[in-house]
Amino acid sequence: MRFALLLFLLSIVTPCVYTQPYIPGQSYFGTNNYTEYVAGNMPVILSAPHGGLLSPAAIPDRNCSGCSTVNDFNTQELGRALAGALHERTGCWPHLVINRLHRRKLDANRDLPDAADGNPVAGQAWADFHNFLGYAKNDVSLQFGKGFYVDIHGHGHSIQRLELGYLLYSDELRLPDDTLNTPVFTGYSSIRNLSENNLQSLTHAELLRGSQSLGELLADRGYPATPSQSDPAPDAGEDYFSGGYNTARYSSYNGGSIDGVQIECNRTGIRDSLSQVERFADTLAVALLDYLGRHYFGGLAASFCGISDAAQSGVSWTCDVSPNPFCRSFQIRHSDSTADWTAGVYNFYGELVQFVPVSAGISVQITPPPGGPVFVVLRRNGEIMAVKTLLSACR
Ligand SMILES: [Zn+2]
Repeated sequence: MRFALLLFLLSIVTPCVYTQPYIPGQSYFGTNNYTEYVAGNMPVILSAPHGGLLSPAAIPDRNCSGCSTVNDFNTQELGRALAGALHERTGCWPHLVINRLHRRKLDANRDLPDAADGNPVAGQAWADFHNFLGYAKNDVSLQFGKGFYVDIHGHGHSIQRLELGYLLYSDELRLPDDTLNTPVFTGYSSIRNLSENNLQSLTHAELLRGSQSLGELLADRGYPATPSQSDPAPDAGEDYFSGGYNTARYSSYNGGSIDGVQIECNRTGIRDSLSQVERFADTLAVALLDYLGRHYFGGLAASFCGISDAAQSGVSWTCDVSPNPFCRSFQIRHSDSTADWTAGVYNFYGELVQFVPVSAGISVQITPPPGGPVFVVLRRNGEIMAVKTLLSACR
């Protein structure tokens, strides 16, 4: 626990100078450009395994028995739009991994034999796809200690709703909440870690289909989803995808503290046109940030990479939070008389403990409740300008 705490702190103390081999927001490619990785700096990992458009003749079509070769229309586009929407909302980039090969050539949501059907070129693309995802998972674990993975798909089922796959079958989702809260079911859930450790101590069932479940946060915003509070489980006989290879491999089902979900998107109203894709991507970004705030990071959820883009472009004001480390109290000061500034002070668990306006040229003294480090989020006209981590230590 102490080690995880230290790692989490280090990540926040130096949010913008952490050195990694990839620059957030930039694309990197695997062999033959069949795999694309857009590097990230926030605790969200996205993948689009079935949205590829490339069909090189050098790779024969997969014809393994029972293997699907049908693409998920507009899901690569949705992955890119979602990454862009998250960036627009936070100034940070999620990790995004795209399989650019058509599903006829590679299924990046299967184990290798079915994925590449024995072709070594497709097999290399499969390895690249999973190496990038493995890197992203490791990076998020090191930087943030926890995080959330979304595997993006599209379904052709008749009921136009989002199907959220937590690795629980539809007949299992129809079980009572108390049953779903037993270790048998939390033990193979893709949100196993979250069910054991979330900010409000919600149960597994509440996280799956309560008022603060991802499904309900989406349904509330106009995109019906199951499971959710309003649609707790698919009825018997209704089609439903419960999550696949990637969800199992990269979520806490497989251990660790990164949870995940497979989002199977219906077509009507979401994937028919690129304008629908953009609109849904923005809503999904807002819902995901809401979800991360409620269950993982509290008020820090919109400030993962420290400083917004606006703050990095040329400005004439200065701001200062000191001393660091502090003993009992610290001061906040800025020089900008053209805008309204506020400071939010958060404890280690991301809970807001103090919120104060800060006028230009006046030092505001803050005495947070004793114990542990605090995070100070400075906002200018509501927009995050800086996030400072202050260590508490008295000499
Ligand atoms: Zn799919």
